[in-house]
Amino acid sequence: MEELYADLVVIGSGPAGQKAAMQAAKLGKSVVVIEKYPNPGGGCLHSGTIPSKSLREAILNLTDFNKKSYYAKQKIDNREISINDLNYCLAQVTDEQIKQLHRQFEKNKIRLIQGVAHFENHHQIAVLDDKNHLTHLVTGEKTLIATGSKPRNPKNIPFDKEVVLDSTRLLSIDHVPKKMIVLGGGIIGSEYASFFAALGTEVIVVDKKEQMLPYLDKEIGMHLQSSLSKIGLKFMGNRDFDEIIRHKDSAELKFNDGTSLKAEMLLYALGRVANVDHLHIENVGITVDSKGHIPVNALFQTIVPNIYAVGDVIGGPALASTSMEQGRLAARHAFGAETHHFPTFYPIGIYTIPEISSCGYTEEQLQALGFRYEVGRAYYYEIAKNTIAGNDPGMFKILFHTDTLEILGIHIIGRDATEVIHIGQVAMTHSAKIDYFIDQVFNYPTYAEGYRIAALNGFNKVKHKR
Ligand SMILES: Cc1cc2nc3c(=O)[nH]c(=O)nc-3n(C[C@H](O)[C@H](O)[C@H](O)COP(=O)(O)OP(=O)(O)OC[C@H]3O[C@@H](n4cnc5c(N)ncnc54)[C@H](O)[C@@H]3O)c2cc1C
Repeated sequence: MEELYADLVVIGSGPAGQKAAMQAAKLGKSVVVIEKYPNPGGGCLHSGTIPSKSLREAILNLTDFNKKSYYAKQKIDNREISINDLNYCLAQVTDEQIKQLHRQFEKNKIRLIQGVAHFENHHQIAVLDDKNHLTHLVTGEKTLIATGSKPRNPKNIPFDKEVVLDSTRLLSIDHVPKKMIVLGGGIIGSEYASFFAALGTEVIVVDKKEQMLPYLDKEIGMHLQSSLSKIGLKFMGNRDFDEIIRHKDSAELKFNDGTSLKAEMLLYALGRVANVDHLHIENVGITVDSKGHIPVNALFQTIVPNIYAVGDVIGGPALASTSMEQGRLAARHAFGAETHHFPTFYPIGIYTIPEISSCGYTEEQLQALGFRYEVGRAYYYEIAKNTIAGNDPGMFKILFHTDTLEILGIHIIGRDATEVIHIGQVAMTHSAKIDYFIDQVFNYPTYAEGYRIAALNGFNKVKHKR
């Protein structure tokens, strides 16, 4: 057993823990990161963001998805994509990212310890190996909990590794299914459903809500639904299920009206829960809230001031992007460096096919809040770059205040949405008005030109009132 001291002890090496560790090291602090799994990277690298986005990229490339509108008539080689093709791409990305993380940890003299961490007291963390033997006792001035989340898997669902799957198990399937049910039209369910639909699988998404991703701006949601149905995805909304039955080679989803659906695979994507099981937070007087998350203040401190918590373990927005910034801000506060509150405007990226990104208010929120607003729209067919790149469906939607012209929300669906959103995010952060986009020169041809077209469309609607 080894005893050691660190200014900061980080539990979990996902995006939240990594960025906190890196920030503390840059402030000249000694840092120990404890990670349960043999490799660093967290759920983000091993079962979440990176594998899902690598699969998406591989599917788009291997199916020549983006070439289809121009070249389909000239016959794209439509060979069947095997799971090995997809796994090969995925393994390359994961290996490279693991190497990169090890390089960063070494360069910043961050010590990485493998094992399961738990609190002994306010300053001491014990690390156990997989046989439950105590391997390290780490004393830390500050501790940061960044233990992430895992799929919410109720006991009555017959999960296995072939038929009834969660988002982690899905990564080890041995073939591409002909038919798949996706239970849950949230981000994870919708993304995977669209990937498999693009691969040619018959996909049915089932949700008790009326539409997929219901918190999206409604117009964008409708655009998504219509794009997804064009690639063969079916959506069954307002449906409550009773039971999932695992047959020999299929899953059956039984609804409470007596009907049922059968498919070769079923992806259960109904939420995630915080990883707090092994932490023994009771030893330091921390309790979880009603949703199972660790409560923190705006500076990411738990009720114990020297213990911080960031990332999925504290609940929404539960994104890799936001978790990283939370980790960085927590470490800065912990060691007295100048800091700020978490940004008001940040983008949300949804990597369905087509992808979506938004920043700020939706139209429905503005209506509920009673704003006087106007809308500027640009459709992808109006953007020269899109015509060149393959005539994808898509739109820009900019919401702005009718009187002050201040930008209140930006919603983009279509190719490169998750990249170009950052232009709008910067504009909103600096309280830009809609005419800002009119008075700038944009590279041509680019998708970003959509901002100008949408701004002109919106501005022309209000200029006579001014
Ligand atoms: C399928 C899927 C797709 C996603 N796509 C996106 C996306 O496109 N963009 C985006 O921004 N976000 C995405 N997310 C969300 C993103 O992955 C998470 O928000 C992010 O990983 C959270 O980071 P984290 O550091 O809090 O936790 P994690 O990445 O979950 O890391 C936590 C780490 O803590 C370790 N740990 C837990 N308990 C202990 C313990 N007691 N001792 C030691 N170690 C422990 C775990 O082993 C894990 O390695 C996706 C998630 C999923 C599931």
